[in-house]
Amino acid sequence: MTKPAWSILPDEWKPILKDRGLRAFRADQILQSLYRDCILDWDGATTLPKDFRETLKKEFPITHFEISAVSESEDGTKKLLVTFDDSEAVETVLIPARERFTQCISTQVGCAMGCAFCASGSCGLVRSLSADEIVAQYMAGRTFGEITNIVVMGMGEPFMNYDETMKALKLINAGRGPNIGARHITISTCGIVPGFAKLAAEGIQFELSVSLHAPNDEIRSLLMPVNKRWPMKELLQSCANYTKETKRIITFEYTVVAGLNDSRAAAEELARAVKKVPMAKVNLIPLSPVSHRPDFKTPDDKTMLMFLDVLMKNGVQTMLRRSRGKDANAACGQLRLKRNAEKQSL
Ligand code: SAH
Repeated sequence: MTKPAWSILPDEWKPILKDRGLRAFRADQILQSLYRDCILDWDGATTLPKDFRETLKKEFPITHFEISAVSESEDGTKKLLVTFDDSEAVETVLIPARERFTQCISTQVGCAMGCAFCASGSCGLVRSLSADEIVAQYMAGRTFGEITNIVVMGMGEPFMNYDETMKALKLINAGRGPNIGARHITISTCGIVPGFAKLAAEGIQFELSVSLHAPNDEIRSLLMPVNKRWPMKELLQSCANYTKETKRIITFEYTVVAGLNDSRAAAEELARAVKKVPMAKVNLIPLSPVSHRPDFKTPDDKTMLMFLDVLMKNGVQTMLRRSRGKDANAACGQLRLKRNAEKQSL
């Protein structure tokens, strides 16, 4: 049975090769080719004999992908559309910032969660990605430079594709693989409650963000259908259990939508809610406009600063985030939507 090369953790190579009667002593050369030289085809592994490369091609294929669109923003953010052999595509975004080079990756084609302001979910879920397809996005990113940080904030809900996402992140984190430190890898969830205990049990120090976006169930259910399945009380309780058990912080993401969740009262109520979770922080993000919801507007700077001020005065650690890459269709799922629309109009 074939096994995609990018689904094999570095320490698994030797035993897997041995099991199949292959030359296990070649494992180190394989790892160097894959993750130092970033080959995209076994023919690129020139340190290995040709007949062995042919065997690797058959048994451990390197997942084929194409970078089918690149859209670059004035702030240096690059958004790539990565297309797999079944023609399905996901987005990955490269975000340069002083000493960091962050890559935002996707875990699913489309998304089933249907958050009102999110472009990825506006057409539903097509399929989940396999671990090697998640790693493929990272390898696509590597063709543009050395990646220092990974955020799982692209298309899809990572906790709805838990096993494959975790396998990919463990590989990206592996010392003899890409070796990106766990604290430089952030998983973002819309609040799939069973995922918190599972992640805590992994014992890996990945960072965790939770998309909250509302101070109470009434507003949250308007924006996020997932809130009906796991309302805020249950969600905040599982967040609190997570921070207590792991001693790791949780960052709540709060996308501010004008006239919807941006009032002073909302900020005060939000402060009370997140203070139930030890070691919680809040990131405030102004809404990126999306074409399918022209009624959702970006708040002005004054509102953002008022919201920030109320949270801080109430003792909540808060950061104001800039939207990056707006002119590159960088809001979640926008580039893929645009591409699909273009295909349909051809
Ligand atoms: N499913 C995961 C990760 C993908 S979305 C999650 O929900 O966390 C990454 C973040 O971008 C989430 O916080 C999401 O709510 C936010 N987001 C999506 N569309 C947005 C938009 N139009 N403007 C601002 N933030 C948006």
